Amino acid sequence: MFVGEAPGRQEDVQGTPFVGGAGKVFDGLLASIGLSRTDVYITNTVKSRPFVGPPPGRNRTPAREEIAACAPWLAEEIQIIQPKLVVTLGQIALDQFLPHRKISEIHGKPQSTGGMTILPLYHPAMSRYGPEWIAILRADFRKISKVMIPESRT
Ligand code: URA
Repeated sequence: MFVGEAPGRQEDVQGTPFVGGAGKVFDGLLASIGLSRTDVYITNTVKSRPFVGPPPGRNRTPAREEIAACAPWLAEEIQIIQPKLVVTLGQIALDQFLPHRKISEIHGKPQSTGGMTILPLYHPAMSRYGPEWIAILRADFRKISKVMIPESRT
Protein backbone atom coordinates (compact mmCIF):
# COMPACT_ATOMS: atom_id res chain seq x y z
CA MET A 1 0.00 0.00 0.00
CA PHE A 2 1.38 3.41 -1.03
CA VAL A 3 0.25 6.57 0.77
CA GLY A 4 0.93 9.94 -0.86
CA GLU A 5 0.09 13.46 0.23
CA ALA A 6 -2.97 14.75 -1.63
CA PRO A 7 -4.39 14.78 -5.15
CA GLY A 8 -3.00 17.39 -7.54
CA ARG A 9 -4.86 18.87 -10.49
CA GLN A 10 -4.69 15.78 -12.73
CA GLU A 11 -5.64 13.46 -9.89
CA ASP A 12 -8.61 15.71 -9.09
CA VAL A 13 -9.80 15.65 -12.71
CA GLN A 14 -9.38 11.88 -13.11
CA GLY A 15 -10.28 10.80 -9.57
CA THR A 16 -7.18 8.57 -9.43
CA PRO A 17 -4.05 9.05 -7.31
CA PHE A 18 -0.66 9.70 -8.94
CA VAL A 19 -1.68 10.22 -12.56
CA GLY A 20 0.03 13.61 -13.12
CA GLY A 21 3.73 14.50 -13.33
CA ALA A 22 4.66 12.87 -10.01
CA GLY A 23 2.57 9.87 -11.06
CA LYS A 24 4.72 9.30 -14.15
CA VAL A 25 7.80 9.24 -11.95
CA PHE A 26 6.00 6.92 -9.54
CA ASP A 27 5.05 4.51 -12.35
CA GLY A 28 8.69 4.45 -13.47
CA LEU A 29 9.89 3.70 -9.96
CA LEU A 30 7.34 0.90 -9.61
CA ALA A 31 8.42 -0.55 -12.97
CA SER A 32 12.07 -0.40 -11.85
CA ILE A 33 11.26 -3.05 -9.21
CA GLY A 34 9.08 -5.14 -11.50
CA LEU A 35 5.72 -3.92 -10.21
CA SER A 36 2.81 -2.19 -11.87
CA ARG A 37 -0.15 -0.28 -10.49
CA THR A 38 -2.33 -3.39 -10.56
CA ASP A 39 0.01 -5.07 -8.03
CA VAL A 40 -0.42 -2.37 -5.39
CA TYR A 41 -2.97 -0.16 -3.64
CA ILE A 42 -2.37 3.58 -3.96
CA THR A 43 -4.01 6.26 -1.86
CA ASN A 44 -3.44 9.71 -0.39
CA THR A 45 -3.43 11.17 3.12
CA VAL A 46 -5.86 13.90 2.06
CA LYS A 47 -8.67 12.90 -0.28
CA SER A 48 -9.44 16.15 -2.09
CA ARG A 49 -7.10 18.62 -3.75
CA PRO A 50 -5.78 21.45 -1.58
CA PHE A 51 -5.32 24.57 -3.70
CA VAL A 52 -4.92 28.34 -3.44
CA GLY A 53 -6.34 31.05 -5.66
CA PRO A 54 -9.33 31.00 -7.96
CA PRO A 55 -10.04 27.53 -9.42
CA PRO A 56 -8.17 25.62 -10.65
CA GLY A 57 -5.60 27.50 -8.55
CA ARG A 58 -2.22 26.18 -7.46
CA ASN A 59 -1.56 23.06 -5.41
CA ARG A 60 -0.64 23.68 -1.80
CA THR A 61 0.40 21.60 1.18
CA PRO A 62 -2.68 20.29 3.01
CA ALA A 63 -3.59 22.05 6.28
CA ARG A 64 -3.46 20.20 9.59
CA GLU A 65 -7.28 20.32 9.81
CA GLU A 66 -7.62 18.78 6.34
CA ILE A 67 -5.24 15.99 7.24
CA ALA A 68 -7.12 15.35 10.49
CA ALA A 69 -10.49 15.36 8.68
CA CYS A 70 -9.28 12.67 6.27
CA ALA A 71 -7.48 10.49 8.82
CA PRO A 72 -10.53 8.22 9.45
CA TRP A 73 -10.68 7.39 5.74
CA LEU A 74 -7.03 6.38 5.67
CA ALA A 75 -7.54 4.28 8.80
CA GLU A 76 -10.51 2.55 7.16
CA GLU A 77 -8.54 1.84 3.99
CA ILE A 78 -5.81 0.22 6.08
CA GLN A 79 -8.44 -1.81 7.93
CA ILE A 80 -9.89 -3.09 4.65
CA ILE A 81 -6.66 -3.63 2.71
CA GLN A 82 -4.64 -5.09 5.61
CA PRO A 83 -1.44 -4.15 3.78
CA LYS A 84 1.67 -6.29 4.08
CA LEU A 85 3.67 -3.09 3.81
CA VAL A 86 2.74 0.60 3.97
CA VAL A 87 5.06 2.75 1.86
CA THR A 88 4.71 6.41 2.78
CA LEU A 89 5.63 8.91 0.08
CA GLY A 90 6.85 12.17 1.60
CA GLN A 91 6.83 13.71 5.07
CA ILE A 92 3.08 14.37 5.23
CA ALA A 93 2.26 10.68 4.74
CA LEU A 94 5.02 9.62 7.16
CA ASP A 95 3.57 11.96 9.82
CA GLN A 96 0.34 9.93 9.83
CA PHE A 97 2.22 6.88 11.09
CA LEU A 98 5.31 8.23 12.84
CA PRO A 99 4.60 11.89 13.63
CA HIS A 100 7.94 12.69 15.23
CA ARG A 101 10.27 11.12 12.71
CA LYS A 102 12.05 13.00 9.94
CA ILE A 103 12.04 11.50 6.49
CA SER A 104 15.62 12.67 5.92
CA GLU A 105 16.69 10.41 8.80
CA ILE A 106 14.65 7.27 8.16
CA HIS A 107 13.90 7.11 4.44
CA GLY A 108 14.48 3.64 3.03
CA LYS A 109 14.53 2.08 6.52
CA PRO A 110 11.56 -0.14 7.48
CA GLN A 111 9.81 0.88 10.71
CA SER A 112 7.36 -1.01 12.91
CA THR A 113 4.36 0.80 14.33
CA GLY A 114 0.83 -0.19 15.31
CA GLY A 115 1.37 -3.77 14.13
CA MET A 116 2.35 -2.54 10.65
CA THR A 117 5.57 -2.29 8.73
CA ILE A 118 6.11 1.18 7.32
CA LEU A 119 8.71 2.00 4.71
CA PRO A 120 9.20 5.77 4.61
CA LEU A 121 10.24 7.02 1.17
CA TYR A 122 10.71 10.47 -0.27
CA HIS A 123 7.90 11.80 -2.42
CA PRO A 124 8.43 11.04 -6.14
CA ALA A 125 8.08 14.79 -6.85
CA MET A 126 11.57 15.17 -5.31
CA SER A 127 12.86 13.86 -8.65
CA ARG A 128 12.49 17.40 -9.99
CA TYR A 129 15.52 18.39 -7.91
CA GLY A 130 17.85 16.38 -10.12
CA PRO A 131 19.42 13.02 -10.91
CA GLU A 132 20.82 12.52 -7.42
CA TRP A 133 17.25 12.54 -6.08
CA ILE A 134 16.16 10.05 -8.72
CA ALA A 135 19.03 7.81 -7.59
CA ILE A 136 17.88 8.06 -3.95
CA LEU A 137 14.29 7.26 -4.92
CA ARG A 138 15.37 4.26 -6.99
CA ALA A 139 17.62 2.90 -4.24
CA ASP A 140 14.83 3.34 -1.68
CA PHE A 141 12.26 1.68 -3.95
CA ARG A 142 14.52 -1.37 -4.15
CA LYS A 143 14.00 -1.73 -0.40
CA ILE A 144 10.34 -2.54 -1.13
CA SER A 145 11.41 -5.78 -2.80
CA LYS A 146 13.68 -6.60 0.14
CA VAL A 147 10.90 -6.08 2.70
CA MET A 148 8.34 -8.00 0.62
CA ILE A 149 10.51 -11.11 0.05
CA PRO A 150 9.53 -13.96 -0.37
CA GLU A 151 6.46 -12.53 -2.16
CA SER A 152 8.53 -10.26 -4.38
CA ARG A 153 9.00 -11.13 -8.04
CA THR A 154 12.20 -9.08 -8.27
N1 URA B 1 1.15 13.79 -5.15
C1 URA B 1 0.56 13.06 -4.18
O1 URA B 1 1.02 13.05 -3.06
N2 URA B 1 -0.50 12.34 -4.50
C2 URA B 1 -1.02 12.29 -5.73
O2 URA B 1 -2.00 11.58 -5.95
C3 URA B 1 -0.40 13.07 -6.71
C4 URA B 1 0.68 13.81 -6.41
